Amino acid sequence: MYLTIDGDHMVRALALDGQVRLTAIQTTDLVSEARQTHDLSPLSTVALGRFMTGLELMAMDLKNETDEITGIIKCEGELGGMTVVVKQNGDVKGFVQNSKVASYFKEDDAHKFDVHRAVQNGVLTIIKSQAGANPYSGSVHLVSGEIAEDLTYYMASSEQIPTILGLGVLLDSNGVKHSGGYLVQPMPGASEEVLTYLEQRISAFPDVSYLMEEGFNPAQILDLFIGDPEIDYLEVKPVRYQCDCNKDRISRALATLSKNDLDELAEEDKDVEVHCEFCNTDYVFSVDEIRSLIAQK
Ligand SMILES: [Zn+2]
Repeated sequence: MYLTIDGDHMVRALALDGQVRLTAIQTTDLVSEARQTHDLSPLSTVALGRFMTGLELMAMDLKNETDEITGIIKCEGELGGMTVVVKQNGDVKGFVQNSKVASYFKEDDAHKFDVHRAVQNGVLTIIKSQAGANPYSGSVHLVSGEIAEDLTYYMASSEQIPTILGLGVLLDSNGVKHSGGYLVQPMPGASEEVLTYLEQRISAFPDVSYLMEEGFNPAQILDLFIGDPEIDYLEVKPVRYQCDCNKDRISRALATLSKNDLDELAEEDKDVEVHCEFCNTDYVFSVDEIRSLIAQK
């Protein structure tokens, strides 16, 4: 029996006598939601979809409700950059600088988007906020601009965790057809045999989008990858696109401005509009509301 639920979800498992941990995820609906929220072009959808899916997989370690991972890419290519935040409960939100990147395709495969061309050189920063610990942040230069390789490189160099990561976002004329990924890590102290076995598995493993097109769910992708009849599925949980902004939060953010800045806003004597880039919502503050923020200073 495979551990599965309808819609977008993530599955975690252990295999090979607990020497390997595995996670796979389906993100079709949440990438589709991001596409609609930001009216993304196809290539912008694929880039943000891969980044959101990769960070969801990396968030499998988060333990407390308030824990979250923020990923930021700043790049020289047309895309400009991306920001994604994933919470412990699987909620994700994100945006790209340029939502309308033109479609470029790989020279050797006219069906594959050339994400590298839209990204080019840049820096990837990961910030982990976990309850009871100082926020941890690490940065690496992008090594490929294809996102999966960049996240793999980040984990190897910044967190010293060897990682196998596959990401796939497949579009058709209706939008996002499939999106998902998997992440495989040997546990500390895994045997040489296990490490060699993982290398062999990855060398011939198909694309995630191909597998999803063939009807594989996340648990089945893990099963196919590891080929271990004793695979132990630990958890399945839903994931979704969800922004947690509201007027109260924005108001608290505004309140962190200096009294001088707030005075200037009030003196303009018109409504102040604050835009949430994650969900494209505008919040309007009247001059009276700005004045009451000043009064609280
Ligand atoms: Zn929002």
